[in-house]
Amino acid sequence: MSISGRCHCRAISYEISGEAVYEAICHCGDCRRHAGAPMVGWAAYPAEAVTVTGQPTIYPSSENGRRHFCGTCGTGLFFINEVVLPGLVDVQSGTFDDPAAHPPKLHVQAAERLPWMDEIDTLPKFARYPSQG
Ligand SMILES: [Zn+2]
Ligand SMILES: [Zn+2]
Repeated sequence: MSISGRCHCRAISYEISGEAVYEAICHCGDCRRHAGAPMVGWAAYPAEAVTVTGQPTIYPSSENGRRHFCGTCGTGLFFINEVVLPGLVDVQSGTFDDPAAHPPKLHVQAAERLPWMDEIDTLPKFARYPSQG
């Protein structure tokens, strides 16, 4: 199994070999604020399984957490925390070339999820925008 992905502007891309250690949706406040999104999809792999082309910018989002993102387009790509997730690279699964092929298997940091998250699947759905049907 091989996975490829990239940032929005294509300055940074990556290849992953092998199976994920876990595939998750994270609800933590750090992910929310860094991504500017209510939740973030992640898939973790052994560090040696991930080959990166290009040079991400690294932001220390917590004492041991390091968020790697594209300094040009801002896409969040990787998270490394050698204390909490030793030897692993967490990859933002929304940047996979085929994210639909890798559904999350669990929610993590659910204690920090937004209170309305449990009801979002019941909201009205529009293929585009309400004015367009
Ligand atoms: Zn980019
Ligand atoms: Zn998180």
